[in-house]
Amino acid sequence: KDIYTDVVVVGGGGAGLTASITASAHGADVILVEKLPILGGNTKFATGGLNAAGTVFQKEKGIQDSPQKFLEDTLKGGKYKNNVDLVNILAKNSSKIVDWLTNLGMDLSDVGRLGGSSVDRAHRPKGGAPVGDKLFDTLEKAAKNNGVHIKIATKAEKILYDGNKVIGIGVKNIDGNTYNIYAKSVILATGGFGANQDMITAYRKDLKNFGTTNSPGATGDAINLLKDLDVALVDMDQIQIHPTVAFNTNHLITEAVRGNGAILVNKAGKRFVNELETRDVVSQAELSQEGKAAYLIFDENIRKSLKAIEKYYNEGLLTEATSLKNLASSLEIDPEQLQETVKQYNEYVKLGEDKDFHKKSIKIKIEKPNFYGIKVAPAVHYTMGGIKINEKAQVINNSGKIIKGLYAAGEVTGGIHGANRLGGNSLTDITVFGKIAGDSAFENLK
Ligand code: ADP
Repeated sequence: KDIYTDVVVVGGGGAGLTASITASAHGADVILVEKLPILGGNTKFATGGLNAAGTVFQKEKGIQDSPQKFLEDTLKGGKYKNNVDLVNILAKNSSKIVDWLTNLGMDLSDVGRLGGSSVDRAHRPKGGAPVGDKLFDTLEKAAKNNGVHIKIATKAEKILYDGNKVIGIGVKNIDGNTYNIYAKSVILATGGFGANQDMITAYRKDLKNFGTTNSPGATGDAINLLKDLDVALVDMDQIQIHPTVAFNTNHLITEAVRGNGAILVNKAGKRFVNELETRDVVSQAELSQEGKAAYLIFDENIRKSLKAIEKYYNEGLLTEATSLKNLASSLEIDPEQLQETVKQYNEYVKLGEDKDFHKKSIKIKIEKPNFYGIKVAPAVHYTMGGIKINEKAQVINNSGKIIKGLYAAGEVTGGIHGANRLGGNSLTDITVFGKIAGDSAFENLK
């Protein structure tokens, strides 16, 4: 009961769906396999936005941006460890991908600021609603409309290789049945390994006992699948911890909360970092505070500015109080100091200058009751490293040669984000490179 097709895509997150849509739009027959009983992967959990430069939505709002600025921010954020050619592609294709998604019916008209970006560049639905859910729905619908054959609860366990090129995959379904799917092009879009504790600690002992925000599917299967093919891996020890995960949970609190004006304080009620620094910097700063944790503090205006916050509210993640003093007592942080910190911060907003930590976008006072707080700590969020690819999303082996018939896109790949991924860059990565992988997989059929 083996199956024959043109293109097989492994992984039903954003990268896999985008690749499937693209290859099928060209006219290829596409099968997508997803090991879990549901599609979506980490993509579905994405909350911040999709970074893009020079878009219609930025222009409407008078935001001056360019692929060059986007490139520079991404390289700086990645500590210049990034593969510059890949980042160039990311930046140059970003505004086109916003158009493409808009044409598929996605609303990306709200533009906000995430850490490490020098301008407002994070695109998301109106009202700042979580972007991952909407992106996933849009892509899933388009894949179905295009006739992509989706097989859930079907895990890729083997890559089939004839000594010259990749010719398909071996899969196992939920009933334990195994069979082969033969294809002229195979696209790996299996995501990262942030949910695989053993693999995380094998590369980074210091991350032992850290929580994770990852989907249970993010177990780094691709690395095992590829072990006989001598595939080149890059930056495997570059693992991102996200600074604002609700304490002792796997609930990520989007960076957009800070982007929209929330501050971070420690148990003593003091700010300790520029809240809009990159994720690595903010995480490290938190780990140096008492209890290795911090508190996000904001007011009613900020709550109202972001739909994502309503979700956290409904999930019971927020502490709410009628005054800052009461909020501090509930959160067990120093009440006098918290009031003093916020007073000082509001003066900086008035001045338009953060004299303590030099936060750039300082526009919103924290002054309107009710007041809200969330205790947060860093947790494993994203694996920057992975399979080495070239500009066509072809997979490269340790001798620097391409492996014929094999493509990869999304978190499973390495090199784009260097030593630290900027918030908002993963959705751009998975869509831009998912599309390229779909194009290349189709080219290979000719
Ligand atoms: P990306 O953002 O790169 O698209 P995601 O985490 O969103 O990554 O999606 C990756 C998907 O791949 C997840 O849904 C995950 O369950 C799936 N996956 C991982 N390993 C396998 C495998 N061996 N076979 C099939 N699907 C897999």
